[in-house]
Amino acid sequence: MLFIKFLDSIAGHIQGVWQGGLELVFPAPTICLICGGTLGTRALVELCQACLGRLSLVKDNFCQRCGRPQPQARNYCVDCGELEHFFVKNRAVAIYDGALKEQIREVKYQYNRRLGLALGQILGLVAHRMAWVPRDAYLVAVPLHETRLRRRGYNQAELILQGAMQYLNRPLLPPGSITRPDATGASNRLGPRERRANLRGAFKVARPALVDGKVLCVVDDIYTTGATLDEMARVLLYAGAKEIHGITLAIAITDQDILDIAPITTLETW
Ligand SMILES: [Zn+2]
Ligand SMILES: [Zn+2]
Repeated sequence: MLFIKFLDSIAGHIQGVWQGGLELVFPAPTICLICGGTLGTRALVELCQACLGRLSLVKDNFCQRCGRPQPQARNYCVDCGELEHFFVKNRAVAIYDGALKEQIREVKYQYNRRLGLALGQILGLVAHRMAWVPRDAYLVAVPLHETRLRRRGYNQAELILQGAMQYLNRPLLPPGSITRPDATGASNRLGPRERRANLRGAFKVARPALVDGKVLCVVDDIYTTGATLDEMARVLLYAGAKEIHGITLAIAITDQDILDIAPITTLETW
């Protein structure tokens, strides 16, 4: 309910944006992309309030570094207490569970690109309202492996980023600035520390001059172990970037989800 109130509270502002000409680029949403229900004229995202209400939002108690919900208020989760991160902070909108889990799978494996854009709108709205993205930041999506990108035809993190950009007034890092060449190796399940080691070298900064001195905000669909964001941050900092932040739509909280969905460098089949 808090989220719905929040959406209502900024509806007037966003309505002004729609009326100011944004509808020429993005038509005002009319149908909920999950249930097909009709949306009100003040809808901010292409999802109805009932479907939005099924999100398990990250509430007040979360790790100040990675954004993972915590049972009680404390500054850092166990992982962040033990590990040195290369990124400054990550923030996530909702827990990776229930309906959101199904929706993210639909975007990834059932080619539902529009739903990806709508989920990105939610991330953009919340990140804007919560001021998660530094004012001078450039936005960049986590790249997909090149082979998988060719096979799927799109990168779900890019869809989330495109949706989010409706509400985040920040420039994009030029496409291709950071890439993810195909990796080789066994695709068996790895523990968090092995995964971290296995990701080393996964990303390449094609043109360091484009990231030099910049604050960057990395956009992804899910935060799992944090290994992906850390490895991206490591190579971006090495290439001269000033600091790295992250925002994700979802964040995994169970060991099962973290192990099942944490990305690895190998070419998984699906
Ligand atoms: Zn709906
Ligand atoms: Zn943490």
